[in-house]
Amino acid sequence: MRVLLLAPPGAGKGTQGGRLAARLGVRHIASGDLLRTEAQADTPRGREIAAIQKRGDLVPDEIVFDMLIPVVVEAAAHGGYILDGFPRTVPQATAAAELAAQLDVTLHAAVYLYAPDAVLTQRLLDRAGQEGRADDTADVIGHRLQVFAETTGPLVDYYQKRGILVAVDADQPPESVTAEIHSRLSELSLPLPISRTWRPPGR
Ligand code: ADP
Repeated sequence: MRVLLLAPPGAGKGTQGGRLAARLGVRHIASGDLLRTEAQADTPRGREIAAIQKRGDLVPDEIVFDMLIPVVVEAAAHGGYILDGFPRTVPQATAAAELAAQLDVTLHAAVYLYAPDAVLTQRLLDRAGQEGRADDTADVIGHRLQVFAETTGPLVDYYQKRGILVAVDADQPPESVTAEIHSRLSELSLPLPISRTWRPPGR
């Protein structure tokens, strides 16, 4: 199963991506995490990524492709993936779709998690103390939301036109979001059907 999570900062794509990947037994590929790990390296590329992430801007496509494509190709050969944060721009989506078509591993669904900006901002400010991310400050959060709206937002339309968009309201408790994602995916005819009766732990 190959699913993309499309979501603004704070919508919970990391949490939901981890749960979905565990449930489906596929790899959770979080571009932000991979880039943050690379940003810790004391190399010119590491320093470049760290500076860009700290500002809340997008890392150049070439760096993203270099890092993500080998991981995605590997996972595609081993049952699939939940992509979290990649593709994030129309050029990234186009390049990823071309590669996927060549390898015969096109996406089954793009799950769009949406919530009002005020909710997203509050969640990110609340978690700032716990996670200590350099980009979870009020100014940078505002900028990341703007970058999402301008640069990643068009992908909602892009995947809708391709008939694989599944929009889920992320302004609900995490367990409800998980349940809704599962129930919506179970309605699609996917190669690895998710049990319609499955509920996240604790429900
Ligand atoms: P969030 O969605 O909360 O911003 P992520 O961990 O997904 O968190 O991304 C953090 C940062 O990593 C982004 O602001 C950007 O700098 C970089 N990044 C992640 N994925 C991509 C991507 N596909 N293309 C460009 N930059 C990316």
